Amino acid sequence: NFEYAPAPESRDVVDIRPSYGLFVDGEFTDGHGEPFKSINPANEDVLAEIASADQADVDRAVKAARRAYDKVWGPMPGRERAKYLFRIARLVQERSRELAVLESIDNGKPIRESRDVDLPLVAAHFFYYAGWADKLGHAGLGADPRPLGVAGQVIPWNFPLLMLAWKIAPALACGNTVVLKPAETTPLTALAFAEICRQADLPPGVVNIITGAGDTGRALVEHAGIDKVAFTGSTEVGKQIARSVAGTRRRLTLELGGKAANVIFDDAPLDQAVEGIVNGIFFNQGHVCCAGSRLLVQESVADELLERLKLRMRTLRVGDPLDKNTDVGAINSAAQLEKIRELAGAGEREGATRWAPDCALPQRGFWFAPTVFTGVAQSHRIAREEIFGPVLSVLTFRTPAEAVEKANNTPYGLSAGVWTEKGSRILWMAERLRAGVVWANTFNKFDPASPFGGYKESGFGREGGRHGLEAYLNA
Ligand code: NAD
Repeated sequence: NFEYAPAPESRDVVDIRPSYGLFVDGEFTDGHGEPFKSINPANEDVLAEIASADQADVDRAVKAARRAYDKVWGPMPGRERAKYLFRIARLVQERSRELAVLESIDNGKPIRESRDVDLPLVAAHFFYYAGWADKLGHAGLGADPRPLGVAGQVIPWNFPLLMLAWKIAPALACGNTVVLKPAETTPLTALAFAEICRQADLPPGVVNIITGAGDTGRALVEHAGIDKVAFTGSTEVGKQIARSVAGTRRRLTLELGGKAANVIFDDAPLDQAVEGIVNGIFFNQGHVCCAGSRLLVQESVADELLERLKLRMRTLRVGDPLDKNTDVGAINSAAQLEKIRELAGAGEREGATRWAPDCALPQRGFWFAPTVFTGVAQSHRIAREEIFGPVLSVLTFRTPAEAVEKANNTPYGLSAGVWTEKGSRILWMAERLRAGVVWANTFNKFDPASPFGGYKESGFGREGGRHGLEAYLNA
C-alpha cells in the first residue's frame, strides 16, 4: 500500500538547478540543440531542463579535448595524472551521499543500491586506475605505451555515474582526453561529475560532458577528430556505430546487451541460490546488461526452488527509491516501461505462465512488479530478447550438457551464473559457457580489477582491470 512520499531529509542533500548547460573546456556553456527535460521516474516530476549539443557544440567539445590532449594531458607524466585521478576519487567519496541521492532521483534505483553499490564502485574505479597511471609500462603492452588521443564516449541510463567511471577513469589514466555523452534520461550525475572535475582543478578540456539524445551521440562518434569510440548501450545502436566506424582510423569498443543464464544445479544451496536469483534479476529493476534474466534450473529441484523464490519475492518492497527499505525502485522511463509491458504480454500470448507477488504500485511514475514466467520455451521471445526489466524467464534442464546447450543458445554472451557444491562442475561449466563473466555461487559481483565485457552480440573489448587499459593505449 505504498504511496510515493519522498524522504525530505535525504532529498535535502541535493541541490538540483532548474537548468544545466554543456561542460566544455572547463566551463558550463549553452547548447544549441533543442533542450530537453530530465524527469524523476518515481513521480514524473520535471527535475531540470538540460541543454542539448548540436553538431557545432560537439565540434567545440572535440576541439577542446584535442587542445587539452596536445598541450597538457598527453605530455603530462603519469604520476602527475595520477594525482588528479586520486583527487577525483576522494571528491566522489566526499560527495557520495549527495551523488547517491541524485542518482536515485534521476534514475529511479533504490538509494540502498546507489549508496552501497554504485557510489563505492565509482570511487573504487578512480582509485584503481589512478594507481595504473604511472605504471603503464608494466601493463604488458610494451615499455612505453602511448595514449590514443581523444576518446568519444557514449553511455546508457542504467548505471549513469558508474558507466561514466568505467569510461573516464581508464581513458584519463592512459593520457587520453574525453568527450562523454550521458543518456538523455539520466544526465544529472554526469553534470555533477563535471563540477567535481572543476573542484579537482582538472585542466580545462580534459573532460567534456555533452548532453543530448541519440543524434548528439551520433555526431560525437562520427566526428573526424575522435581517435577512439567507447560505447555502452543497446546492440542495435552498437551495430550502427560499428558500421559508421568501419574504415576510419577510430578504434572501437562496444559493451552491449545480454540475456544471461543463471544455472542452478540440484546440489546447490537453495536458499543462497534464491538470493542470487533475486539479486541477479531484480537488482536495479533488472536494468542490468548482465542480469540473470534466464533461470535454468535442474528439473529435480525446480518445484522446490520456485516455491522458495516466490516466497522470497513476496517480501520484496517495491516503491520510493529514496526509502532505505526499498528493494525495487522505479522503471527508468515511460518508453522502457512500455518495452517491458510489451515483452511480458508476448510471454503470456506465447503460452508461458506469469506470476507476480501482490504489491500495490504507486499511481504516479513508472512501475513494474517483480515478475516470473514459468513454462518458458527457448523459442519464446521472453527467452530470447533482452527485457531489461524485473522479469525472470524460467527454463529447466536435466543434465549439465543440456544446461550448457541452453545457456549458450542466445545471440548474447555477457555473463552467466553457476550454482553447485562441486568445484569441478563449476570449472567444467565455466570452460563451456560462452560468456565474458561466469559467476560461481554468486551473481552481479563487480570489482575494478576484474575485466568485464562480452562475446557475440554483447560486444567486444574489455572494461576494468589491466585489460581495460588496452582499449585506451597504442601498444
Ligand atoms: P541505447 O543504445 O538506446 O542508448 C545508449 C546511449 O546511446 C544513449 O546515451 C543514447 O543517447 C545514445 N545513442 C542512441 N542512438 C545513438 C546513435 N545512433 N549513435 C550514438 N549514440 C546513440 O541504449 P539504452 O536503452 O540507453 O541502454 C540499454 C542498453 O544498454 C541495454 O541493451 C543494455 O544491455 C545495454 N548495456 C550494456 C552494458 C554493458 O556493459 N554491456 C551496460 C549497461 C547497459
